[in-house]
Amino acid sequence: VVRAEQVRKTFDGHEVLRGISLSVTRGELVSIIGPSGCGKSTFLRCLNFLEIPDGGAVAIADVAITRAGGRWTRADEDAAHRLRAHVGMVFQSFNLFPHRTVLDNVMLAPMRVKRLPAETARAEALALLDKVGLSAIAARYPDTLSGGQQQRAAIARALAMRPDVMLYDEPTSALDPELAEEVLSVMRALDEDGMTQIVVTHDMRFARAASDRVVFMEGGEIVEIDDPDILYVSPQDVRTRRFLRSVL
Ligand code: ATP
Ligand code: MG
Repeated sequence: VVRAEQVRKTFDGHEVLRGISLSVTRGELVSIIGPSGCGKSTFLRCLNFLEIPDGGAVAIADVAITRAGGRWTRADEDAAHRLRAHVGMVFQSFNLFPHRTVLDNVMLAPMRVKRLPAETARAEALALLDKVGLSAIAARYPDTLSGGQQQRAAIARALAMRPDVMLYDEPTSALDPELAEEVLSVMRALDEDGMTQIVVTHDMRFARAASDRVVFMEGGEIVEIDDPDILYVSPQDVRTRRFLRSVL
């Protein structure tokens, strides 16, 4: 579903991504771990063209975009727009519309972007809110919700666009452990439903327990990708070993 090849990104002469290649197949849950500043968020944003890579290629579903350093054209932006339609993204901060109810937050984009009739959008939104455990509070406003509830609403909102892949950038970093657990269990349930998910996380326990594969990044490169039980127990690279020792 997702294929990144030799993705490169430079900020102010500093090469933040030095050729990242990663393929994720349908239904996989892949976690990305690594020290602060190693380029995890930048890579995730490049997958979605929230950052424009300087080089390399990204393909998601049936949309492929190759960058060779040239100008970012109108046609490129159109392709990025089509690519983003396949992607749901969830950030550390919940980014809900504060002046809209939880239900409206989930219904709005399908109505505006996909032109779904209100009744269809409402029915789908309620089903999604049920899935993330929020149907009882669909009529409330975001600022009356706990952080865990807000993040689950943000996930439901992303799912409402029926993405092929969900990208998460530290979805639980702003949450207390028990609220984080509510969010992580939603992600586990989505995994069981067959959703494809890529998760940047500092939660080493979740990455190990829930991932099909774990990616360890350092210095703008992928150092190692493996089954979590292999990566955590017998990492091949000294940098992975050093990182895991520092965080576990
Ligand atoms: P963290 O774990 O702290 O979130 P990260 O692995 O997500 O770190 P990135 O946010 O991808 O790291 O940042 C990688 C590097 O790129 C950092 O040195 C950062 O300062 C730099 N960087 C990121 N975004 C920009 C930007 N828009 N302009 C300039 N530099 C940037
Ligand atoms: Mg980050």
